[in-house]
Amino acid sequence: MPPEGLDWLPKDTLLTDDELIRLVRIAVGLGVTEVRLTGGEPLLRRGVPDLVARMAALRPRPEISITTNGILLDRDAAGLAAAGLDRVNVSLDTLDPERFKRIAFRDKHAAVLAGLRAAQAAGLAPVKVNAVLLRGINDDEAPDLLGWALREGYQMRFIEQMPLDAQHGWDRAAMVTADEILEHLRAVYALAPVPDPDRGSAPAETWAVLDGPDRAGWAQDNPRVGVVGSVTRPFCADCDRVRLTADGQLRNCLFATTESDLRTAMRAGADDDELAGRFIASIAGKKAGHGIDGPDFQQPDRPMSAIGG
Ligand code: SF4
Repeated sequence: MPPEGLDWLPKDTLLTDDELIRLVRIAVGLGVTEVRLTGGEPLLRRGVPDLVARMAALRPRPEISITTNGILLDRDAAGLAAAGLDRVNVSLDTLDPERFKRIAFRDKHAAVLAGLRAAQAAGLAPVKVNAVLLRGINDDEAPDLLGWALREGYQMRFIEQMPLDAQHGWDRAAMVTADEILEHLRAVYALAPVPDPDRGSAPAETWAVLDGPDRAGWAQDNPRVGVVGSVTRPFCADCDRVRLTADGQLRNCLFATTESDLRTAMRAGADDDELAGRFIASIAGKKAGHGIDGPDFQQPDRPMSAIGG
């Protein structure tokens, strides 16, 4: 997000709760087994626990998770868990409140920590923490973040920064790569790759943390760390995700430059079969990969904060 934020979408372009649930029901009917609520920041929307409860009532019941900046999670974690939320991913890039302010443009580090504790207390396990390392800002923090997560009982994941910033300022040469992250972690921790035949479309490569400082103080029996090499180790061949934006556009890839307008179709009276057909057509048109390394790569107009992770 740029410091000045982004314009809010006009309210009448946002899907209503009923419209959203209808599209999720159609997707579940087509075989979608997991629904993740992302954002922008999903907890800014009113009534998210109700939405979760309505999704949890669908059959077959999808797994339901949320990706959040964590700022409102202290308020919402218990209600979300009671409504049927299964898991939560919280973005936190630093342990230093001053750095947090610099990265997130707000003084909310303590609120995120409180949100994480609330999620854990509500039983939303495993609580996953996502960090993006930025060169010259927090790229020295990988071992500290992992040590903290091991002590607190959170599952730490490091994610390469992708060219989805609103300012279009991403610079591949400056990106902290998965290899670099692993090198920093290995300087402090003994890691072993976890062969995972069931990885499927999961984006993170998982490493077992065999040893490291303060081993006795770790809160996990089976400590793990994830590294998501979205750019340098792409997993597009296994990707089975599709994204529905808050304004009802279906995107078959984070980097898609076209969208399928389900909102307009739905409001023009499309029945469930027609909407299902649009889902199928969109997914069938999914490209083989993100093409970030290709000469024709075009950053999509929508930034990450308008697509969701
Ligand atoms: S296909 Fe698109 S959404 Fe899927 S992993 Fe690749 S870049 Fe991400």
